[in-house]
Amino acid sequence: MLKISKSDYVLGIKCPNALWFKKHRKDLSPVIDQAVLDTGNMVGELARSRFHGGINITAKPWEAEAITQTKSAMTENVHYIYEATLETDTGAYCAVDILRNNNDGSWDIIEVKSTTSPRDYHLIDASFQRYVFTQCGVNIRNCYILTLNPEYSRHGALDIYELFTLHDITDNLQDADTVQSEVARIRTILDGPELGIAISKVKCNRFYECGYKRHCWRNIPEYSVFDAFRGATADEIYAEYGADLRNIPAEVRNKQMHQGDIEAFLDNVDVINKDILRNFTNNLRWPLYYLDYESIMPAVPMFDNSRPYQQICFQFSLHVQRTPGGELEHYEYLHHDPKTDPRPGLIKNLITTIDNTGSVIVYNQGFEQGRNSEMARDFPEYAGQLNAINDRMVDLLMPFKKRGLYRPCQNGSASIKQTLPAFVPEMSYADMGIHNGTEASAQFVDFMAGKQTPDETKQMMTNLHEYCGQDTMAMVRLLEVIFNILSK
Ligand code: SF4
Repeated sequence: MLKISKSDYVLGIKCPNALWFKKHRKDLSPVIDQAVLDTGNMVGELARSRFHGGINITAKPWEAEAITQTKSAMTENVHYIYEATLETDTGAYCAVDILRNNNDGSWDIIEVKSTTSPRDYHLIDASFQRYVFTQCGVNIRNCYILTLNPEYSRHGALDIYELFTLHDITDNLQDADTVQSEVARIRTILDGPELGIAISKVKCNRFYECGYKRHCWRNIPEYSVFDAFRGATADEIYAEYGADLRNIPAEVRNKQMHQGDIEAFLDNVDVINKDILRNFTNNLRWPLYYLDYESIMPAVPMFDNSRPYQQICFQFSLHVQRTPGGELEHYEYLHHDPKTDPRPGLIKNLITTIDNTGSVIVYNQGFEQGRNSEMARDFPEYAGQLNAINDRMVDLLMPFKKRGLYRPCQNGSASIKQTLPAFVPEMSYADMGIHNGTEASAQFVDFMAGKQTPDETKQMMTNLHEYCGQDTMAMVRLLEVIFNILSK
């Protein structure tokens, strides 16, 4: 009899195909994100220190020894058992992060998550945990999700009690009958033959982006109904007409997210709306400052005046053009000390480099503006200057997002990673040492954690200079494209 784990249960609810692949097609296994695992382990360790003094079950959850150790621990006068593991006589098994003894014959389940609030699928896996433990004769009183507290601002040593929030989810769980019938359904899927793959924009992104998309979506065109239409609408259109946009009747196209995208694709023509472009350039004030930040987002705050998952800027690139057609100047800041907070040095450099007049151009304003607002909150001595920069901020994303300018090869996206190759093809990220912000962040996290050799750090610094500088130069060139179009 195949055993059913907690992750099988969640996967079976998300998608039968995913569940079947997990058991029968190991060759399709999604790539494991080590950084996510590391974060989960670190948060788990901290959670244990909040509920300290317990017994740890050392055997793996799928080993019979884990059950033996758990049953033994439950007979001792212990407050907490970490990784307590049980299995029903029908092969449903799970471990719980922390099993708390209420000393009245009942126990609480506390599941630790490295998010800042409980997610839907956390409730599903907690339902399974309660079902397994209850079926095994354990009196479960309450179930909790322990998450990071997004409001906790670090000051000095980490306050392990403030760092976490305990959410009582007991009343939000599936009842035993529901879990039992889901377990039976899952067993039928696992014991059966491979099912026909049924992709869906909603389902394949439910809870999280499915790791099997590489396989299931392999025949979907690069630009398809899933790019042009929103979630459930895309699924309905796909069910009726397939993924290829050339098969969509004209009367259905008016449901597209951005009117004109599909027509541009079908006719292979650019979209140009000079009114939108002119409205954008009319709001610009010289000199022009092109600004871009790189950041890390530590789950557990590393520095004073920072919170779980707060974006900590460690680098900026700034191109300055003082007059139309004038020479470009380049300024930057890249933090070099892995032991200190990058923000004070970055702020001081920024506010002394940006003068009091002129537009500050960014791409996707919410990010840079949000970082400035947070830094103004956390370093109030600079709030005036940072808020003033925000007041002068202009978002270069907007003329592209509003389709003032659009090229079919953007595949429905106005992100700079799409607009740059579309309009400035000679500028590419492909040959760079760092290709995107996620890579920049991951490498800087390794640097801060002391995981790099001196040579690796030297190379990373070179790559970061090049990458962040390219982001602001990309904005310079994209704005030139707009000015050129308006000059004709
Ligand atoms: S990609 Fe979609 S259809 Fe394929 S396994 Fe994942 S959720 Fe299921």
